Amino acid sequence: MNALAPTLRRWLAGERIGPLPPRNQAAPPPALSFEFFPPKTEALEEQLWACIKRLAPLAPRFVSVTYGAGGSTHERTHATVSRLARETSLVPAAHLTCVGATREEVDDAARAYWAAGVRHIVALRGDAPAGSASTPHPGGYAYASDLVAGLRRVADFEISVAAYPETHPAAPSPAADLDNLKRKLDQGATRAITQYFFDTSTYLRFLDRALAAGITAPIVPGIMPVSNYGQAVRFSAMCGTSVPAWLGHLFEGTENAPEIRRIVASIVAAEQVRTLQANGVDEFHFYTLNRPDLTFAIAHILGVRPQA
Ligand code: FAD
Repeated sequence: MNALAPTLRRWLAGERIGPLPPRNQAAPPPALSFEFFPPKTEALEEQLWACIKRLAPLAPRFVSVTYGAGGSTHERTHATVSRLARETSLVPAAHLTCVGATREEVDDAARAYWAAGVRHIVALRGDAPAGSASTPHPGGYAYASDLVAGLRRVADFEISVAAYPETHPAAPSPAADLDNLKRKLDQGATRAITQYFFDTSTYLRFLDRALAAGITAPIVPGIMPVSNYGQAVRFSAMCGTSVPAWLGHLFEGTENAPEIRRIVASIVAAEQVRTLQANGVDEFHFYTLNRPDLTFAIAHILGVRPQA
């Protein structure tokens, strides 16, 4: 990703990306990862496994399963990740949060993952359930950087952490948030995955700031294909992602036209990933919301084809 710097310098100097350059068909397709959430009901479980089956031939680098706020999906996350390890050839990654838990509880959860054959953890502080404050547990890991250090003591996990192109909402400043990202990587994480964003230049500028701060680990863009605009606006307000006016304008009037909405959604996401790809980004993390079609189509546009 260091190769981005000249492009970014031009961007920051005011040059805007014009028409996308033709795709370089000789370049290898990008690496992908897919994120799922653990299902609550049998019907959702079926939907998830159909989604996994559909996306698996795209040979993702790993697939991850989220952990509900405050650890509320502990059993379901564990069951889903363990089943991925047991029944598929995919590389599973378990999201693990430390908010509201003791160090022993978190370490035990990590040990159980290791015993189930899971070697990759997405290490997060997490958020307390709605309405309560995210104050550290007195006997717990206070921040994700502490969790990363703890996991390194438990076993030789591959560890990914979260990054925020628009700055984490509770961070004292963008610079402090970047210091925090560096701490997480210095403690032993090997990759950051970003919160999703709609303004591609925000991510590119963030990469430039990270490079200037001495961060050389991959910062993989989190891509959220928007299939439900209203829901995306609500999520975004909670996690601090800004929703540009142009996005609302594009979805305006599609409320009762799901097929038009899906076409608009794929065009928006395709434009975003192609712009990133044209800027040298060669790894993408998709928030699939357990629905395969948009992710599959966008992967196809990126040049990724199903493996036999
Ligand atoms: P941290 O890196 O610990 O940062 C939290 C805040 O504390 C930041 O504002 C940071 O700047 C600040 N901070 C850090 N260290 C210090 C310090 N020493 N002193 C003062 N301030 C400090 N949530 C879930 O519940 N389950 C999931 O599965 C999940 N998956 C996610 C996946 C991705 C890719 C992303 C981007 C987010 C995910 N989240 C998930 C959301 C995440 O848990 C929240 O954004 C949470 O508020 C912060 O988690 P973190 O790991 O970034 O925390």
